[in-house]
Amino acid sequence: TARRVDREVQSELARVSEGWQQRERRLEAPAFTDLQQWIQSSDWIVSAIYLPDDDPASSVYASKLPERTDHPRFLTREFLTATGTVRFSYDAEKLIARAEEVVRQLPLKNRPDGMHEQAEVKLVRSTPEQGLFRSGDGFAFVAPLNPPLAGYGVRAFVRTAYIGSGWENPRAISLWLSFIALTLTAVGGYLAHRGMKKEQETMNLRGALIANVSHELRTPLSMIRLGAETLRRGTRLTEKERQEIEDQVLREVLHLSHLVENVLDVARMQHRQTKALAFTPVYPRELVTSVVSTYESWIRSKGFTVTLQIDENVAEQSWDRDAVSRALLNLIDNAIKYSADDKSIEVVLRQSPEHVILEVKDRGIGIAAKDLEHIFDPYFRAQFSDTQTRRGAGLGLTLVQQIVASHGGRVEVESEPGRGSAFRLLFPRAGGTAEEPVTEFARAREAF
Ligand code: ADP
Repeated sequence: TARRVDREVQSELARVSEGWQQRERRLEAPAFTDLQQWIQSSDWIVSAIYLPDDDPASSVYASKLPERTDHPRFLTREFLTATGTVRFSYDAEKLIARAEEVVRQLPLKNRPDGMHEQAEVKLVRSTPEQGLFRSGDGFAFVAPLNPPLAGYGVRAFVRTAYIGSGWENPRAISLWLSFIALTLTAVGGYLAHRGMKKEQETMNLRGALIANVSHELRTPLSMIRLGAETLRRGTRLTEKERQEIEDQVLREVLHLSHLVENVLDVARMQHRQTKALAFTPVYPRELVTSVVSTYESWIRSKGFTVTLQIDENVAEQSWDRDAVSRALLNLIDNAIKYSADDKSIEVVLRQSPEHVILEVKDRGIGIAAKDLEHIFDPYFRAQFSDTQTRRGAGLGLTLVQQIVASHGGRVEVESEPGRGSAFRLLFPRAGGTAEEPVTEFARAREAF
């Protein structure tokens, strides 16, 4: 701004001296009135003397003021013309007033890069301080002006309030950056913690898998091996003994394959590689009776009685037959395993307005309240004093729950330690379309 003011003042000076010289060229000898007109043509020139080179004695003097005053703000300046010299006094304040118009059109205003001018810019009498310095509640920058306005300067002032707010303030920026960094660190910490927790859970599961499953695998394997070796070497075995060993081997093989199936199914379902559950139309009644009758002799051989209670009106459902059969079998298996003297099992099939309900009740040892919330967790097994006799890997109920969930249903448990347990599988009812065939089926059976 100071440089622009300087340029503006220089061109004003050039304008007035050019004005005089044009007059001078038109005249033989400039007279008082010419000089008078010249000083009137500009508002900041106060008085002037014209000294012709060839005759200094005939110089003329003109002034706007009644008498000559040596006001401190009046400065003098002179310029050479073709025929002489013009020396004039001028009012610096008036020249400044012209310059102030320049200051008002500040170059910083509305810059295209979005910067906003926040400095107060004005012309001042030069202070001893120049350049950038702290002043009062802000920063000032004073640039001195060149002659003819030497002794004056352009002063730009920015309040600290501006510096102290907004994005351009380094303090605010560093505060924001620290805040963002802290937030990111916290998020990172949380994610790392969550990852570690997940990792820990996986490790625990793996530990449980190795502890439970390997034990469960080893026992039947050694029994099978022992049985096979006895059969091979035992030439002196009676037919009855041989039969018993064969039965034992077969039982262990069945147990083993049941266990392996459970482990694999749970793993598959956990990784959502559901061996594409095959939903087909299934008559729940038919499914329940067929599972129970298939395993009835085995159940009886354990000393148990099964009571079936079936609602004839249960409609045809779209289920994965094998999966639901496995769920039911796991529940029956548990009812047998976790019963003591009262060896009776009840299997109920009924329906509510929203669900088809499959229930397996026993009068066994029941489940302690603190264990109830865990029994569906993989590898969870309640602590028994006689763990040896109740074999299992803690996966049966996990699988049952997964199967029911993949049919859109849920599992409910009621249990009282010492009195028995009831596991209820609630499958959402298929929307009534299958009502007809079932009644048809029932009628057909009645007729038969
Ligand atoms: P597993 O039978 O192989 O231990 P499950 O997942 O089938 O595994 O069952 C988990 C646990 O739930 C069992 O260890 C047992 O403590 C408890 N449980 C399951 N069914 C019954 C039941 N009918 N009566 C009492 N406890 C049961």
